[in-house]
Parts: sequence; structure tokens; C-alpha cells
Amino acid sequence: MVSYDGTDPVIFPAGAATQTSAAEAAQGEWDAVVVGGGMAGSIVAEQLGQAGYKVVILEAGPGKDLDLAEYESYLSRFYGAVVKDNQSPYPFNPNARMPRSTDTMPVRPETPRDDFYLVQEDKYCTDTTFTRVLGGTSMHWEGKALRMLPEDFDLRTKYGQGLNWPLSYDDLEPYYRKAEAELGVAAEVEDQTYLGMHFPKGYVFPMHRMPPSYLDQVVARGVDGMRVTLADDDYTLQVRSFPQARNGVPNAAYDGGKGFVPVGAVSTSQVEEGERCQGNTNCVPICPVQAKYHSGKTLAKALSKGNVKIVTQAVASKVEISEHDRRVTGITVKKYESLNSEKYEEYTVKGTVYILCAHAIENARLMLASDMQRMSRSKLIGCNLMDHAYLLTWGLLPEPAGTMRGTTCTGGITDLRGGRFRATQAGFGVDIHNDGWGWATGSPYTDLVELVDKRGLRGRELRRTLGNRISRQLLLAFMIDLLPDRSNTVTVDERYKDALGNLKPVVSFKIPPYTMRGAAFARKLATDIFEKLGAEDRTTYDKNSYSAVEHDGQWYNIVGGNHLAGTHIMGTDPANSVVDHTQHSWDHENLYLVGPGSMPSIGTSNISLTMAALAFRSAAHIVKHLRAAKAPVAVRG
Ligand SMILES: Cc1cc2nc3c(=O)[nH]c(=O)nc-3n(C[C@H](O)[C@H](O)[C@H](O)COP(=O)(O)OP(=O)(O)OC[C@H]3O[C@@H](n4cnc5c(N)ncnc54)[C@H](O)[C@@H]3O)c2cc1C
Ligand code: SF4
Repeated sequence: MVSYDGTDPVIFPAGAATQTSAAEAAQGEWDAVVVGGGMAGSIVAEQLGQAGYKVVILEAGPGKDLDLAEYESYLSRFYGAVVKDNQSPYPFNPNARMPRSTDTMPVRPETPRDDFYLVQEDKYCTDTTFTRVLGGTSMHWEGKALRMLPEDFDLRTKYGQGLNWPLSYDDLEPYYRKAEAELGVAAEVEDQTYLGMHFPKGYVFPMHRMPPSYLDQVVARGVDGMRVTLADDDYTLQVRSFPQARNGVPNAAYDGGKGFVPVGAVSTSQVEEGERCQGNTNCVPICPVQAKYHSGKTLAKALSKGNVKIVTQAVASKVEISEHDRRVTGITVKKYESLNSEKYEEYTVKGTVYILCAHAIENARLMLASDMQRMSRSKLIGCNLMDHAYLLTWGLLPEPAGTMRGTTCTGGITDLRGGRFRATQAGFGVDIHNDGWGWATGSPYTDLVELVDKRGLRGRELRRTLGNRISRQLLLAFMIDLLPDRSNTVTVDERYKDALGNLKPVVSFKIPPYTMRGAAFARKLATDIFEKLGAEDRTTYDKNSYSAVEHDGQWYNIVGGNHLAGTHIMGTDPANSVVDHTQHSWDHENLYLVGPGSMPSIGTSNISLTMAALAFRSAAHIVKHLRAAKAPVAVRG
């Protein structure tokens, strides 16, 4: 399954990201034109290249080369940044902007703000983000790699909520294993067989589980065995380790005893670089040693074989469609000169099939800007935008618990991800954050300011108090399911354009009552857990914040989960969906929309492993499509 020889470094071929010009790409005859070099795009391109097809990736972001030097330039920028938000390692690029969590602020309908990338005109605003550089959002993702539950695939049938998928857990299971190999997932099957999740006999994950952090163990002492009753069913809670797409100890039993060779840092042969996670809690926004998976690892593999080319600084601006037969005839890109210049040239790149992998918001934005809703039979492009609703709760433990050691999150509580209660309220997973209250309060900076400015501490006393306080911080992040809702949308509006004149995404996103019932339950559960642990509950919510949501007379703050999905959902026919179960567009015979935008629900797992599994599945189908294209037979299903 894994093709690396452990003794060889994975090399991003020198100059690969710049050697194909947009002009050359426009003259080429490509089997597949892929928009976006993130996780989905790199998996599809690598698979098609491996099958012998000529592929070009059009990537909006910069990326001279995703080699060690470029990666380290991201690190230097991050180290020097005053505000270390998700996007702080990556250069500001007016030509391919991306949302920053720091952008969000209260806005009113009568005073729309358009100075950020995501235009939001509602009172509630999401601070969710995605990244537009080569490698995409995987550059700064956290790397949790949970599967969806079998029941997530038929929520409507089981609980009368949300939508069924047009495929089942069992249909996706072999592709989950491919994705776990590609991303290098560290986990133990025995920890993951809950709520119906199953694996083939004898399966082991590529690497052993990440060891639970000391904080996980402290929380487990209070939580393990706690009883909860929901919708007349009893649940016993337990802290479990989470599957992680980061390098740990390879499992010698993997692949029938062949073992697994982790992919370390790209373009270096120093074995200590990236071969093992070093547990220093910097996973978001960038792993200094590349122990965490990022798409550069897949891209390096794709580019080194020769069939896949890439053009960077090429923003797909229009999908060209034939009015005659609705086939896609090309992707028009604006190839900009540099990050400091708005000068660009336009090219149209042509191929046999076209695969949009620009992520949920950007795929929808591009299609809407190309007037494709007019041709859509479902009219669902840009509708059903989903993201996990995160409710943060934080407390101060009575004793130091080693906070700030381990990956961002090594474990949590998964027992309430599924169950009959989902007929009336959302399920959730609980992350135990090893990085303290940073997400909720801006710690450690806010702690420092408080101790110095308000309490006047200095020197040894300051160091002692700060260390003691930080090592006692416990953040429980409740990741709550949010169902597809037609009125949560991405649209475009002629009033809002970026530096290249491309229409910006306008996002309208509300947190529905079903999710808020889950949030209210989560808040009570957090109180009980803090009580069990003897922790002082420090959670406060601000009703004046952009993220404030009222439910049953109480105010909560719901922050963005960065798990954007649903803007081109899959379904069983062209009237109820944008793509079929292979992510093949219903309306355009040679178009695939690959990425989380196709997911009809997000359940209670971080979405990317499922999205990667779907990308492998679609790639297999696109290979069949390309074969058939030589003999003109329409392929579907
Ligand atoms: C802070 C954070 C933490 C996360 N943690 C997790 C986690 O722990 N587990 C998990 O499962 N998921 C996590 N995610 C989500 C995960 O990162 C995404 O689901 C995943 O990376 C999406 O992959 P993608 O290939 O669909 O899109 P992306 O990775 O965003 O790739 C899209 C690519 O398309 C390019 N592009 C965009 N527009 C254009 C255009 N017009 N023309 C050409 N190219 C374009 C972009 O530059 C980018 O390279 C996290 C996300 C964030 C932000
Ligand atoms: S804990 Fe550190 S070494 Fe491990 S994946 Fe996160 S950032 Fe990388």
C-alpha cells in the first residue's frame, strides 16, 4: 500500500511548482485538470498520475516549491508573528485571500463589511478558516483523523433528521483504509470499535496510538465510568485516544506484517525530521518538524512520477461551459505575477475531465461566479453549508496536570457521538485540549497580561504563578453536529470582489436549534465533569460577541469548527443533490466536485479522513471515466 522506501527521503522535485507555466498548461492536452492542490486535489492527482494519466493542478496560492526551504519560511514567519492565529505562517496574498479567525467582528445588515475575504452580513458570524497556499488547509489542520459512524450515513432513516448518504459506511470502509495509509494514521483498532464502527478482521492502523497525555489521564480519573441518561438511554463515559494523522511508532503488523514506513519531512534525508511527533503542541497552525501529515507529502509523490504538473499563482476564475451540451470546455485562470502585484494574465486550460478540489466554500464560489446555478437542476450549489459548532468550556484543575504537553489533542470523550437521542438533539464529541485555554481566552498571553498588569507580579513570582496556572488549565471543546440546512449558504454578490476582480464568497450561517439543544446539554455535562475533577469552572460567554447564540433564554458562544462541508452535496438524483455518490456532477458530464462540499452530513467526526476516503473512491471512478472516454460511453454510478 505504501510505496516509500524508508531509506529515501520524499523529495518535492526541484522547481516542480514553477516549471510549468500557465501558458504551457493552456497549450497542453490534459486528461484531467484539477483545481486546488490541497488534500483532495493532491490525492486525486496522485491517483490519476499513477494510473498513467496526464494531470495538471491549478493552484491559487503561492508555492515556489513545497520543499524544506519553503516550509521553513512558513515557520520563520510564524515564529515572528505577533498574533499566532491559524494563518500566521502563510503570507498575506491579496490575489488569493483566505479568511482569518481574527477577521470576525459584529456586523449589521445595514453596514455590510467587505474588507475581509468572507463577506458576512448577519449578526452571527463564523470565524471558521481555510488556507489558500500550495498544500491547502492541511498545512495548518490539526490532524485528528476519526472515521464517521455507520449511523451517520443514514441519519434520516434512523432518527428522522438530516439526510441519508447515497453510500454506506461499508461502501466507504476500504477507502477509509487507503486514506489511513496515505495520511499515516496512528491509532489502535480496540479504541475505535464503538457505536458500530467496525474494521476488517486483522486490520491494524499504520501506526500505534499516540500515548495519552498526562492531562488525558487526569481527566479520565474523573470521567471514566460517569453515567449519563439521554432520551431514556444510559451512556457510560470513557476517555479514549483519538486517531491522529501524525507520525508515531509504526505498527509492525500493518499490511499483513509488512509494516509501515512513515513519511517524514519532505525533501530532507535527516531521519529525525518528522519521523516522530515530538509532542510540543504546535500542530495548529504548523508542525515544525512535519510529523503531522500535510498534502505536500502526497504532492511530492505525485510530482515525482512525471505525469502530474502544477501551476501555482493560478486562480481559477471561471468554469467554461458549453451551452450546447453543458460539458465543461475549460477552466479560466488568472495567473498573477506576484503577491505584491495585481497584474495577471488569463489563460484557459483544457482537459478531458475537470475536477474541482478548491474546498467547500471555494468550489461553490467558483461555480456560482461561473453562472452554473442556472444549469443546476437541484439549485443547491452553495446551499447546505455545514461546519461543526464548537462550544468551548474551560476550568482550572486543582493540581498541575501537564497542560501544554502532547499534540493539540490526544484524546476525548466519544460516547455521545451517536445514539437515539439524535432524533431530538445533536450528538457531539469532546476534545480534551492539551494546549490550555488558548482557543477560549487567548492564553497564555492573556494570563501574562492579567498577572503583570492587574496583579503586579514580577520575576520569580510571576514565573511560578504563570507556570502553575497554565499547567492546570483544562479546555473541553465540544464538537457538535450541525445538519444540512438549505438556508445556510455561500453566495456571490457583484458588490464584493477581490484584488483580481473575482467575486468573493458571501456566507450566511446560523446555528440551528437542533445543534443548540446539543450545546445546552454539553454545557451541563461540562459543569458535571469540572465538578467531578474538582476544577473551578471559568467558562463565560459574551452575548455581545459575533459568535453569540441564544437558546432557551441562555447565551452561548459558538465558534467555527473549520470543518466546512456541504455546498455541493451528494445524493440519489439531480433534483436533490449536486453530485452523485462518486462526486460526479449530475449536470456536467465531464465534471467532478471532490472535497467536503460533497458530504451530505458531517456527523461528529472531523471531516478530512472521510473526505480523503471519498477522494480515493472518486479517483477510482475517474480512472474508469477516462478509460471510457477513449471509447465514447457515458459513465455514471
Ligand atoms: C485550524 C484547522 C484545524 C483543522 N483540524 C482538522 C482535524 O484535526 N481533522 C480534520 O479532519 N480536519 C481538520 N480541519 C479541516 C481540514 O483541514 C480540511 O477539511 C481539509 O484540509 C480540506 O481539504 P481540501 O483539499 O478539500 O481543501 P484545501 O485543503 O483547503 O485545499 C484547497 C486548495 O485549493 C486551492 N484553491 C482555492 N481556491 C482556488 C481557486 N479559485 N483556484 C485554484 N486553486 C484554489 C487552495 O489554495 C488550496 O490549496 C482543520 C481545519 C482548520 C482550518
Ligand atoms: S505535537 Fe508537535 S511534533 Fe507533534 S504533530 Fe503537533 S506540532 Fe508536530
